[in-house]
Amino acid sequence: MTFKDMFKKTTYISVEEETEQDRGSGDGQEPAVPEGMWQKCPGCGELVYSEDLEENLSVCPKCGYHVRIGARERIEMVLDPDTFVEWDTGIENGDPLGFHGYEDKVKQLQRMTGLDEAVITGTGKIGRRDVVIGVCDTAFLMGSMGHVVGEKITRAVERATKQKKPVILFSCSGGARMQEGIVSLMQMAKTSAALKKHSDAGLLYISVLTDPTTGGVTASFAMLGDIILAEPGALIGFAGPRVIKQTIGQDLPEGFQRSEFLLEHGLIDNVVTRQNLKRILARLLRLHTRTKQTPELYAKVMDELEEYKNRQLWESPDEFFLHNEESEMIPAGSAEEGKQRLKNDLQNYSAWDRVQISRRAERPTAVDYMKRLFTHFYELHGDRAFRDDRSIVGGVAMFGHQPVTVIGQQKGHNTKENIMRNFGMPYPEGYRKALRLMKEAEKFKRPIICFVDTPGAFCGIEAEERGQGEAIARNLAEMSAITVPILTIMIGEGGSGGALAMAVSNEVWMMENATYTVLSPEGFASILWKDSKRADEAATVMKMTASDLRRLGIIETIVPEKEPITQETMEDAAMFIKEKLLSFLQDYMIKKEDDIVELRYHRFRDF
Ligand SMILES: [Zn+2]
Repeated sequence: MTFKDMFKKTTYISVEEETEQDRGSGDGQEPAVPEGMWQKCPGCGELVYSEDLEENLSVCPKCGYHVRIGARERIEMVLDPDTFVEWDTGIENGDPLGFHGYEDKVKQLQRMTGLDEAVITGTGKIGRRDVVIGVCDTAFLMGSMGHVVGEKITRAVERATKQKKPVILFSCSGGARMQEGIVSLMQMAKTSAALKKHSDAGLLYISVLTDPTTGGVTASFAMLGDIILAEPGALIGFAGPRVIKQTIGQDLPEGFQRSEFLLEHGLIDNVVTRQNLKRILARLLRLHTRTKQTPELYAKVMDELEEYKNRQLWESPDEFFLHNEESEMIPAGSAEEGKQRLKNDLQNYSAWDRVQISRRAERPTAVDYMKRLFTHFYELHGDRAFRDDRSIVGGVAMFGHQPVTVIGQQKGHNTKENIMRNFGMPYPEGYRKALRLMKEAEKFKRPIICFVDTPGAFCGIEAEERGQGEAIARNLAEMSAITVPILTIMIGEGGSGGALAMAVSNEVWMMENATYTVLSPEGFASILWKDSKRADEAATVMKMTASDLRRLGIIETIVPEKEPITQETMEDAAMFIKEKLLSFLQDYMIKKEDDIVELRYHRFRDF
C-alpha cells in the first residue's frame, strides 16, 4: 500500500462512524442500559438482573464490566447530594455546513434523550470541596464535539479559572462532530486553550476517561489533565482500532487501546473502578489543596504537625484508609517508640562492608519509608509518553497537614518484586515520570521528597534508544530551577548519574549504611587496576560512605542505623527522619521561591 492510499483510508473514515459500528450503538438511539428485568452483560455475556446492575453502579456483578452510563447518572454518582447547579443550557446549535437533516436530528435527539447537547456542565461539591464539572454523554450523537459541546466546556473552564476552582471532566466521545465540519475541529483548540489558562493559574484539572474516548476529544481536553484517570476497559485512542487495522493490515495486540494498555504505556495516572471513583476524586482534591507560602500559614501548618507529633498520631484517618486494587494506600507508621535519640557515633564497618550492607534485600525500600512517614499516599503513574517505569514509584501524600510529592527508586525484597522493579534501575521513562511529578509539585507548591536507591540507571539497548543520557541531563537541569524545596534521602545504593538524577536537591541526607558514588567499586577497580577483585580496596579509596560524604560536603545529614537497618528495625530511623523533615520544612517552606532556587544553585555551584 502506498502512503497516498493510507492517507485516503485514514482520512475518510470518521472515528465517530467507526465507534458506532464497532459498538453497535446505532447513533446513540439505544439507551446505554436497555430496559427489562434482565440484560446481557457485554463483558461476560451472562444475563444480569437489571436491578442488581443498577445497584452496582452499572458495573456487572459477575465480571466487573463497566456498562456505559448517562451524564445525569454520572453526576449523581460523583457529586455530593443536592450540590449540582447546571450551567449554560440552551445554547443555540449552529449548522455551519448547512448539513442536510442535521438540525432536525439534533431536535429529535433533544426530545429523545432529555439532554440539550452531548455534554452537561456545572458546579457542585465532591467531599465538600467545590468543583466545576463537565460530563459527556454518548446517547447524544456519540458524545461528539460540535460547537455547543466546545462552547459549554470552554465556558465552564473559563468560569473555573475566574472562581479559582478545580475542573473535573468526564470524557466519552467519538471525537469531532462530522456534521459541523471544520468548526468542530476548532473546538479542540478552543477547549485546550481555555484549559491552558486554567493550568497557568495554578489550578487542578482531573480528566476521567470513560468508554469510548476517541478522536478529537482524545487529542484535546481529555489528555490534558494534571491527573488522568480511566474506568476499567474503556476504549481510549486517537484513531479507532478498525481504521488502524485497515491501514496497517495487521492484527492489533490484545487489549490494545484499553485503559489498562494506556496505563502500562505511561499515558494515564491510574485505572479506577466506578465504586472507588468518588472517594479517590475527594482524596485527590484534598491532596491538591494549595497551601500558600506565607509564614503565618506555615506556622499554623507546622503547629498542626507538631501537634501530630506530640500526640503521636501518625495514622491515616479512617475515612481515607482504602484498601483497593488501584492504589497502594500507605498507612502511616506509629511513633510510639523511638523518642530517645539514637547514638550519633557511627558503627565500625569498613567501606566495603557498607557497600554490601547497602545492597541487602532486607533493607527497607522507598515504599517502606513512605509507609512510615506519610499518609494518604496516592500513586501516579507514567511519563505521559512511553511507559510506566515501575522502578520509580511516585505520587502525592500528606506529611501531617502538608501535601507533599514523594518519589522513590524502588527495589524489591525478593526476586519476583525485583524483576517487576527492574532491580531499582530506572529507564529514561522512569526519570521522565519523576520529572513530570516534580513539575506538578511545583505547580501546586508542594515540597518534594525523593528516595534514592539504585545500582545505577538501567544499562541496555532500549534505554539508549530512548535517550538515557538526555533523560538524566534533563532532570539535573530542570531540578536545579524548581521553585519548591527538594529533599533527597539516600537509603541504599546511590549509583552514579542514576542517583544524581533525583538528587539535585536543597539537602541530601543519607542512611548510615547507604553509599553514593560515581561508579561501583567493582567497576572502579577493574577500570583503574584491571582487577575487579580489588573492589574492597576501591570502596575505601572512592570515599563513598556517609561519613566520607559528609566530610566532603556532599550530604547534610546522616541518619543513624543502630545496626544495619531492616524493615523490622526501621522505626527509630523513621522517627529520626520525621523530626528532621519537620524542621527542614519549617526552614524551607517560608523561604521565597527565588531563594529556594538560589540556595540549591549554590549548593552545587560550590563544588
Ligand atoms: Zn459481565
